Amino acid sequence: MYSLEDWIRHGNELKRPLLVNQALAESNRVVIVGGGLSGLSLAYRIGTERPDILVTLIEKTTRLGGVIETWKRGGWICDVSVNAARPHPAFWRLVHDLGLDDEFKQSNENARSRWIMIGERKHRISMFTAAKIGPLGILKGFLNSKVPGKSVFDVIQNGPISDALTLGILNDSAKEVDANFLFPSFTGFGPKPPVGKRRLRNMISASYPIFTPERGSLASLDSGMYSIIEALESRLNKMKNIEIVLESKAENPDEVSKSHNVPLSSIIWSTGMPTRPHGETEISVFAAGYESSDVNHIGVGYGTLIPNIETPVSGILHESDIHSSQRAPNGHRLFRLMVPHQRWGGSEGEVVESVARLLKTVERPALLEKIGTRRIPRFPPGYMKSIAEKKYDFSVAGWTGSGVSVTHVVDEAERISELFRQGPKP
Ligand SMILES: Cc1cc2nc3c(=O)[nH]c(=O)nc-3n(C[C@H](O)[C@H](O)[C@H](O)COP(=O)(O)OP(=O)(O)OC[C@H]3O[C@@H](n4cnc5c(N)ncnc54)[C@H](O)[C@@H]3O)c2cc1C
Repeated sequence: MYSLEDWIRHGNELKRPLLVNQALAESNRVVIVGGGLSGLSLAYRIGTERPDILVTLIEKTTRLGGVIETWKRGGWICDVSVNAARPHPAFWRLVHDLGLDDEFKQSNENARSRWIMIGERKHRISMFTAAKIGPLGILKGFLNSKVPGKSVFDVIQNGPISDALTLGILNDSAKEVDANFLFPSFTGFGPKPPVGKRRLRNMISASYPIFTPERGSLASLDSGMYSIIEALESRLNKMKNIEIVLESKAENPDEVSKSHNVPLSSIIWSTGMPTRPHGETEISVFAAGYESSDVNHIGVGYGTLIPNIETPVSGILHESDIHSSQRAPNGHRLFRLMVPHQRWGGSEGEVVESVARLLKTVERPALLEKIGTRRIPRFPPGYMKSIAEKKYDFSVAGWTGSGVSVTHVVDEAERISELFRQGPKP
């Protein structure tokens, strides 16, 4: 049972189950597996909450941050995965506690437009987009939203619109994505707050440190999202009760339990689910820079999603429009391209041709570079219900359980650390 204070701190995140072992908070030593944003935030929050507990963080690679990386070249700055955070007080609190207030800014309010390509035409997504679903579709979607285990397509009864939504977040089609997992508050999953939605929203708004975000806005860090990883790493290195072990791959929780001499209940597996039974979508990420004069005809906005699977590029994000900081050299604009491998033959030429067609420009980009490859887990209909009903011998954290956005991951770390609040065992 959550208190009003819990709802103000965490909002609708409380509708998501915590996948924790009941004995976790009784541990006097905790081992976290995975040094992405989830593992780092958990180590920071638990280590701060309980200086008496030794927290060991194990990361299999040579670097921390997981999927988060900021690519920089000359005046170009491009995030490979997450580039901005949606409003949530837990993310603002983390930025504030890490001393990054001056770097953290609301995104450009003139860059809120989002478009979807339907056929060869670009449509701006607006309130009128919902009208395309029609009253019957809206009613059917509403009824489906009350039934656990439905897909995003079942809830948003329009192919291109629902596909655009899931593509923008998961690079997967709406029929393949669990509606409960993507938006539990919209589908009525989980517990309900003790006060009305509007009242709670106002209370949450008043709780943000740094600045109160406008509804529908985003916020980002001036020099890219990797700044938060660097700040976490630097803070953790100064904490006496934190130990970070790089290049140490944990095969499974049993092995960690033996090698670190802790019970399974003291392990937080924050690489996500130990196995990804539903597979993953693999994407390549490209930075595409143009001289501004070659792309003046393209409206300032957030970006365009392309549901058509015949097109290699599934999303074009206007990186130099979105952020308050400059992401391209003077006189240039930067776009980030998402290229799912199941839609792409693998040649750079295909990407150049596809982006030229989508941006309707004959000019070649001043910059085109593949800046990374990422894997995004799949969350088929019924996923959220299945993970919520399991009993866990060890705890699981990270984006395969918490929700896909950084706000979910960071809030989950706070919620888990709050379980430790009762203090050391007598
Ligand atoms: C292309 C892309 C775009 C995104 N865009 C956005 C966005 O715009 N907004 C947003 O909010 N979110 C976005 N996200 C999601 C966001 O990046 C994630 O929610 C978040 O970064 C996940 O952090 P994590 O720590 O849970 O997982 P990860 O970053 O995957 O970290 C897991 C870590 O565990 C390590 N590891 C794995 N297995 C082992 C093992 N056996 N032993 C030891 N270590 C191991 C890995 O090396 C890695 O460092 C995006 C993600 C991608 C890929």
